[in-house]
Amino acid sequence: MPSDIAPPFIASNLALDFINTQFGVGDEQQECLFDDRSVVTWLQQAGVLSEYGESPPVGIAQLARQLRDNMRDLLISAQQGRAADSAVVNHVLERGYPIEKIEWQSRESVFQKKSVKRDMGSESLLQPIAQVFVQLLTEEDLQLVKECEASDCVLLFHDQTKSHRRRWCSMASCGNRMKAAAHRARKKTG
Ligand SMILES: [Zn+2]
Repeated sequence: MPSDIAPPFIASNLALDFINTQFGVGDEQQECLFDDRSVVTWLQQAGVLSEYGESPPVGIAQLARQLRDNMRDLLISAQQGRAADSAVVNHVLERGYPIEKIEWQSRESVFQKKSVKRDMGSESLLQPIAQVFVQLLTEEDLQLVKECEASDCVLLFHDQTKSHRRRWCSMASCGNRMKAAAHRARKKTG
């Protein structure tokens, strides 16, 4: 079912925002990556794909969803200190690796190193997400990757607060909602 709800960008990490493109539980589940065009739109909203006028690569939605499943598995496994199959992430990294080249900048009279997309295939377009994910998985404290504490919310975020006590995907939605619910529950029992 196409989702008309805007994908949330609340995770403080692009790879987690990508995992969050499927959110909500039960009947409320939302899928932001429902076709090839929606993946390209998400990548543009995420700021990793600039002007893109062509039609999206065929099959990018399928690869994107496989990548998302693989990232979610790897994250959970790593948090539990277990290994997991990293085939899809490695596939995207290998096939989508950008090309580095140097270009002469005539105005400044210097060479500058540039990183450009290998092509406009699905792997190239998704590679920035896999790259951010690898950084998260290998360089960050994964105990700071948390799920929103609201019972009906599965959104993940990277807790970058100093106190490491972030509990909600967003205070405006889940935080206030859950606090109000707790308040009502206390009133009832008290
Ligand atoms: Zn939430």
